[in-house]
Amino acid sequence: MYDYLIVGAGLSGAIFAHEATKRGLKVKVIDKRNHIGGNIYCENVEGINVHKYGAHIFHTSNKKIWDYVNQFVEFNRYTNSPIANYKGQLYNLPFNMNTFYALWGTKTPAEVQAKIAEQTEFMKDKEPENLEEQAIKLIGPDVYEKLIKGYTEKQWGRSATDLPPFIIKRLPVRLTFDNNYFNDTYQGIPIGGYNVIVENMLEGIEVELEVDFFENRSELEASARKVVFTGMIDQYFEYKHGELEYRSLNFEHEVLDMENYQGNAVVNYTEREIPYTRIIEHKHFEFGQQEKTVITREYPADWKRGDEPYYPINDATNNAIYAKYLEEANKNPNVIFCGRLADYKYYDMHVVIERALQVVEEELG
Ligand SMILES: Cc1cc2nc3c(=O)[nH]c(=O)nc-3n(C[C@H](O)[C@H](O)[C@H](O)COP(=O)(O)OP(=O)(O)OC[C@H]3O[C@@H](n4cnc5c(N)ncnc54)[C@H](O)[C@@H]3O)c2cc1C
Repeated sequence: MYDYLIVGAGLSGAIFAHEATKRGLKVKVIDKRNHIGGNIYCENVEGINVHKYGAHIFHTSNKKIWDYVNQFVEFNRYTNSPIANYKGQLYNLPFNMNTFYALWGTKTPAEVQAKIAEQTEFMKDKEPENLEEQAIKLIGPDVYEKLIKGYTEKQWGRSATDLPPFIIKRLPVRLTFDNNYFNDTYQGIPIGGYNVIVENMLEGIEVELEVDFFENRSELEASARKVVFTGMIDQYFEYKHGELEYRSLNFEHEVLDMENYQGNAVVNYTEREIPYTRIIEHKHFEFGQQEKTVITREYPADWKRGDEPYYPINDATNNAIYAKYLEEANKNPNVIFCGRLADYKYYDMHVVIERALQVVEEELG
C-alpha cells in the first residue's frame, strides 16, 4: 500500500513525489507517456537537447524558487532574446529601442515616445471593441501590423477583430536597447537539459511509464491511501460538467546538415501567410557546437479530445465549467489536484514549482 499514487511524472508530480519521499512516505509515480518530465521533456538528437513539447526557458524573480530548482540542476547563462521575422525583415523582441530603430529609425526614447503618441492619437477617445483596436490604441498601426496581428491570429486561429480586447491588457514597451525578453532576476537553461531536473527529483522513486490512470482506475486507486492527480480535471470527473477547451500545437522537427541555421534559439514569424508561429533552433539554448542542428517549426492548432492539451482557454464559459469541477474536487479529500492540467491554468515552470510546494506544505506540512 502506497501513501500516495502520483498520476503524472511532470514537474508537478515529480516535486510532490520528491518531497513526500523526503518525509519518509511511500509513493509511486505513473505516467501514460514513455518518459518522465511531462512537457519539459527533452529528447537527445545529434547530441542536442530537443524540447519535444515546445521551447522552455526557465525564469523567475523568486529567490526561494530559484534556490529550490538549483538543488537539482545548475543553469547556464542563456538569455531569451527572440527575433521577429516579418516578410524577411528582422526585428528584436520584446519591443525596445532596437525594434523601434529598425521600424522608424528613431534613436532616442523621446523620439520613440513622440512616434507612438503620433501613431495612437486617432484612437485616443475610442473604447476598443476587439483585440485589433486594443493593440492599435496601445502601440499604433505600424507595430501592430508587422509584429502583432499575424502572430496573434495564427496563435488563436481567429481574426484579431473577432478576439476580445482583454487578451492584450498591456504591451511591454522598453525604452532601452535591451533585448532580454524577461524582466526576471534569474533566467537560464538547465545544464544537461531539463530531464536532469526531473531525473534528480525522482531518483530512487518507483516510477511506472506507459500506464494510463483511466485504463486501470479502480485498481490504481486502491493501491494508495491518496492520489495526487496532475492530469486533466474534466477527464478525472468523466466530463460530467462538460469538456474544458484548449489550444494545441503541432511540432515539425527537422535535423539539418549544417552547423547553424538561424543564429538564434527563437525566431518568430509574424506574418499571417506563414503557417507556423516560430522556428526554434535548440542548440542555441545551450551554446551548442555540434556539426548538425535541429530546428522545430511550431504550428498552432485547434484541439479536440485526444490531442495534446497545451494552452487552456480561460474564457468565461470554460472558467465556469472549471469552477464546477473545482467544487467537486474540494469535496474529495483523498485526491489532490495539482499542476497545469488539474488546475486548468497556464503555468510557467516557476509557478508550477510554487504551486506544487504550496500543495506539499498544505498536505505534508
Ligand atoms: C508550448 C509551451 C511552451 C512553454 N514554455 C515555457 C517556458 O518557456 N517557460 C516556462 O517557465 N514554462 C513554459 N511552459 C510551461 C511548462 O510546460 C509547464 O509549466 C510545466 O511543464 C507543467 O508541469 P505539470 O507537471 O503541471 O504538467 P505536465 O508537464 O503536463 O505533466 C503532466 C503529466 O501527467 C501525465 N498524465 C496526464 N494524464 C494522465 C493519465 N491519465 N495517466 C497517467 N499520466 C497522465 C502526462 O503524460 C504528463 O506527463 C510552456 C508550456 C507550453 C505548452
